[in-house]
Amino acid sequence: MPFPRKIKVIVFPSFIWPALALLALPLLAFVALASPLSGPVALYYGSPLKGTTVALDPGHGGIDSGAHFESTMLEKEIVLEIGLELRRLLEQAGARVMITREIDEELSYHFPDGSMARHRRDIRGRARLINASQAHLLISLHINTIYDSSVRGPIAFYVPEKSESKTLAMAIHKNINPLFSADAKAGQLVHQHPQESSAYFILNETDMPGILLEIGFLTNPDDRLLLGKKSFRKKIARAIFLGIVDYIYGDTEPEEPAP
Ligand SMILES: [Zn+2]
Repeated sequence: MPFPRKIKVIVFPSFIWPALALLALPLLAFVALASPLSGPVALYYGSPLKGTTVALDPGHGGIDSGAHFESTMLEKEIVLEIGLELRRLLEQAGARVMITREIDEELSYHFPDGSMARHRRDIRGRARLINASQAHLLISLHINTIYDSSVRGPIAFYVPEKSESKTLAMAIHKNINPLFSADAKAGQLVHQHPQESSAYFILNETDMPGILLEIGFLTNPDDRLLLGKKSFRKKIARAIFLGIVDYIYGDTEPEEPAP
């Protein structure tokens, strides 16, 4: 009969567990920092947006560049990049997302009525896609321009008939304003309040609460500098995402009255 093998039993010294815990701390810190929601924002657990459907509408596309600065900064490209990043964050949090376009294209082919001008078919095509998605909320993404180059900052437009839209606009502003106001010079006019408007087809012709978010002004040098940075576009997507979470969970502080 062979001699039974000795079974090795390793006895850890009593200090090993605290030591292992200490070693694990940098790893945990790395995981937290690598999270898409790291930075000056809250972390979340689980799927806070499970059961929520969000419609995203990056404006323009294809032959329609939207606003532009020289030939280097095109509204259609900036809003698509932000829209796709926002979709990633929303899906990661458990939401279902319908985005009207994923590539550089205009959407008139979704409304094939030859008697109508292309841009009218484009906007109707978007509304058709958005309504078919039965989303709980709509975020339409745009970049602003104005003759006065000192005007800057984001504006969320909503139709006054939809009270939930104003709540959504306030939640988005609450999260997006700090990105602009932190950078504002003394006395600089920064748009930081939701605005009523019945002028937008996409808001009038869609069924759910929604906003048209003008993310900043391409005509303002400070906004242009920010909007040109990929890191800032990611921050914008994150701020809109957090605004949506706040809206869903009813965490929308009333907007301060304009001074
Ligand atoms: Zn636009």
